[in-house]
Amino acid sequence: MRFAQAKCKFCGGSATAQWEDADPQEAVDRFIPMIACNPCADAYRQRNDSGSEIVSNCYRLSRASKKERAEIVGDIRTALVVLTRTYAYAMMHILRSQSVLWSEDFAQRLIESPEKASEILRQYRAEVRRMAKQGIAA
Ligand SMILES: [Zn+2]
Repeated sequence: MRFAQAKCKFCGGSATAQWEDADPQEAVDRFIPMIACNPCADAYRQRNDSGSEIVSNCYRLSRASKKERAEIVGDIRTALVVLTRTYAYAMMHILRSQSVLWSEDFAQRLIESPEKASEILRQYRAEVRRMAKQGIAA
């Protein structure tokens, strides 16, 4: 096993690259620029996992009959409140922002337009990126 100090591709912070002695040099050269530090890797994983769970909950809701919707909407709302908060905190870490943009309205928008879940997440990311760039506290 070999190690080298590398730079995180997301934040530029220090990260440790690690590879097997037998790995070809060209594979190592390709892999080192893709290294992420642990906090960035965790934040991206959390964002991606919570994002796909949000989309799958919304998909279930959008496919439900009126009767079924009435039965599942409460549980889905509870799940979406937790998932959107996780998503929002992950984006805060990704953007190195000092504040998190989140309220229950985030879950409510998804409940109202579940078929637009991916679009709502995309708009959210654009909004927090814009705010982080301008240094606006949420
Ligand atoms: Zn990083």
